[in-house]
Amino acid sequence: MKQRVCIAMALITKPKIVILDEPTSALDIITQANIINLLKQLKRERGLSYIFITHDLALSSELADYVAVMYGGKIVERGPADEVYVSPAHPYMKLLLNSIPRLRQDIPPSFIPGAPPDLRNPPAGCRFHPRCPFMIRGKCEVEEPPAFNVGVGHYAACWLYGE
Ligand code: SF4
Repeated sequence: MKQRVCIAMALITKPKIVILDEPTSALDIITQANIINLLKQLKRERGLSYIFITHDLALSSELADYVAVMYGGKIVERGPADEVYVSPAHPYMKLLLNSIPRLRQDIPPSFIPGAPPDLRNPPAGCRFHPRCPFMIRGKCEVEEPPAFNVGVGHYAACWLYGE
């Protein structure tokens, strides 16, 4: 009910865009589904756009038209949700998707070695390089990769797609 009140308060000024920061975290699965259905209904009825910030990959794959994947405070991949989820380009997104247990495939989930960076003193170059199995020595730990085009409207900040 508190989540519903917060959503109502956010809509009082009739915004075009609403920023939702983990709006369903700490909710049980039934309440989460109710809130998501409410958000979808409001989106349809009011022509709203959402910027939805979440750690829940399943939820974002269901809701988002366009996704931006962040690692260590940087956007490392962005593009149409269908493409990013089906054909991830950045090693972090690939490993992240591989870490999710699959119900219909006999593939055990893997894990990403290491730990997230300390943002008070982030790694030089690509922030993912200490954990990346594809790290290019002399390049990734020195130069920060720009966003390279890897598909229609799809970009990945990774030297694997560089010149
Ligand atoms: S830039 Fe290098 S370290 Fe970073 S994700 Fe790409 S291959 Fe891995």
